[in-house]
Amino acid sequence: MVERCENCGEQMSVTIHVFQKYVHFFWIPFLPAGKTGISECANCKQTLTEKQMPASLLATYQNLKSAAKIPIWMFSGAALFVVLFIGLKINEQNKNRENAKLILAPKVGDVLEVKNKDKQYTLCKIVDLRGDSVLLISNKYQSSDPAGLSALKDSAYSEEISYIAKPELKKLFDKGDVIDIHRE
Ligand SMILES: [Zn+2]
Repeated sequence: MVERCENCGEQMSVTIHVFQKYVHFFWIPFLPAGKTGISECANCKQTLTEKQMPASLLATYQNLKSAAKIPIWMFSGAALFVVLFIGLKINEQNKNRENAKLILAPKVGDVLEVKNKDKQYTLCKIVDLRGDSVLLISNKYQSSDPAGLSALKDSAYSEEISYIAKPELKKLFDKGDVIDIHRE
């Protein structure tokens, strides 16, 4: 009870409540999003929103509002998002480092995710190694999106064998045309 009520004239009968709003994402609080509040008179039960408050009340309300701390749990979603993002980045870096090693020493059975000239993605399987040459067969199917490649894993491969020299394969990897390598 901090203020005199201008409605009923009762002294020290008005309480101010400040509410912190937040944005949620699937019911997980994501980020705080501004404050709102009301005043309430214990005597006449009048409630006023921020816009309806008389100047005297508004000043007190503004003070309370700026003093109100934002609960840290309201950042839960954003914090989770940052942690996930960093985790994904580290994972990606590790995978790239691992792939850079694998591409230098290809093995029979390796499956490469490859981007071709038409910007289509497919899988190439290493079937043999002869000296400096890598012998590959391509999957018969293509995907316009690398995410679709996992669906191709069990589909048929062409019987046609193509050759590529190891240094050329490394070049394709460096160019980003070999986007991933799977080794059992
Ligand atoms: Zn009142």
